[in-house]
Amino acid sequence: MMFKNPRRIASVIGLIVGLTNGLSMYLVFWLQGQTPQAVNLMLFAVGSGIVTAVIAESMIKQFMHVKLTRIYKALNNPEKYRDDMLQDAKELGRVDMEVTMWVRRAAVEMTSLRAQDTIRREFIANLSHEMKNPVFNIQGYLLTLMDGVEDAAQRERFFKKASRNVDRMIRLLRDMDVLAHLESGKLTLEQSPYGLKQQVLDAMEQMEDRLEHAGIQVHLTLPDTLDDRVMADKQRMEQVLLNLISNAIKYASENKPELHIQLIDQANRLDLVVKDNGIGIAQDDITRIFERFYRADRARVHGKQVSGTGLGLAIAKHIVEAHDQSITVAAELGHGSTFIYGVPKA
Ligand code: ATP
Ligand code: MG
Repeated sequence: MMFKNPRRIASVIGLIVGLTNGLSMYLVFWLQGQTPQAVNLMLFAVGSGIVTAVIAESMIKQFMHVKLTRIYKALNNPEKYRDDMLQDAKELGRVDMEVTMWVRRAAVEMTSLRAQDTIRREFIANLSHEMKNPVFNIQGYLLTLMDGVEDAAQRERFFKKASRNVDRMIRLLRDMDVLAHLESGKLTLEQSPYGLKQQVLDAMEQMEDRLEHAGIQVHLTLPDTLDDRVMADKQRMEQVLLNLISNAIKYASENKPELHIQLIDQANRLDLVVKDNGIGIAQDDITRIFERFYRADRARVHGKQVSGTGLGLAIAKHIVEAHDQSITVAAELGHGSTFIYGVPKA
C-alpha cells in the first residue's frame, strides 16, 4: 500500500498543504479584487508544500524509530517485554486505524478542492465569454467609424450600437460588483418597514412600457384585507422583483403571454409569486438557473438570442437568502414558470 512509505505520506501531506495554501492565497487576493502573480502564487504553494513534506517526513521517521526500537528490544527479550509487546500491538493497530481515517479525510478534502477549482475555472471562462462580445462589437463599430462613414444616419446608428454595448458592459460590471459583495458577505442590508403591495405597483409602473410592448396581460392578486407591511432592504428586494418580471417578459410565450403576480400570507412572511405562461424551463436547467452566468441554451427564445448575463437570479437568490428567506421555482418546458420568494413581515 502506498501509504506505508513515510516519504510518500509526507509528500501527500506536502502536496495537500501546498495546494490548500496556493488556493487560499488566490482566494484572499480575489476577494480583495486583486489578481496575484501566477509565479508568486506557485512559488508560495510549492515552497510551503516542500517545507511541510520535509518536516512531516522527519516526524514520521522519528515516530517509527521509537516504535521499532521498542519492538526490537521486545523480540530480544520476550519475557521481559511481554506486556510491552501486547501494548505495542494494540497501539500499532490504533495508529493503523488513525492513518486510514486520516487518508479518508484527506481524500474528501482533495475532492472538495478539485470541485472548487472547477467552479473557479468555469467562472473565469464564462466571464471572458461575456466580456468578449461587447468589447469586440465596440471595437468593430469604432474602427468602421474611424475609417469614415459618409451617411450621417448610418454614422448615428453605429454610435448608438457602440453605446449600447458600453451599457451592456457597465451592466455586467455592476452586477458582478454586487455579486462579489454579496458573496463575500460585505454587503449589509438596509432593512426598513415598507408596504409590499406598493413595491409591486411601483415595479409594474417601471416595467409598464416593456410589458405593453410585449403585449403581456398582467394579473395582480394583492388582497385588500392583507396586511402587507414587511421588514426588508427595499431597494434590493425591488431588484429581485424587477429581475423576475424582466425574465417573464424576456422568456414570454409568443401566444397570449400572461404574467400573474400574487401575494400570499404565510406565518411570519409574505410570499410573492411571479408566474408566467412563457417558454418554461427544462428539468435539467432548473437546478442550475440560480448559478452565476447560467443561461438555459444560452437563452435562445423562439430562435432569437435574448440579451442578459445570467447573473440576475444568482443575485436574487443571495438577496433573498440574506433575509433568511428562500426563492424557489416550478417550471416545465413549454408550460411557463412560477417563481416564489419570501419577504419577512414587519
Ligand atoms: P440577467 O438577468 O443577468 O440580465 P438572464 O435573465 O439571462 O440575464 P437570470 O435572470 O439569472 O439571467 O436567469 C437565468 C436563466 O434562467 C435565463 O437565462 C433563462 O434561461 C432562465 N429563466 C429565468 N427566468 C425564466 C422564465 N421566467 N422563463 C423561462 N426561463 C427563465
Ligand atoms: Mg434575468
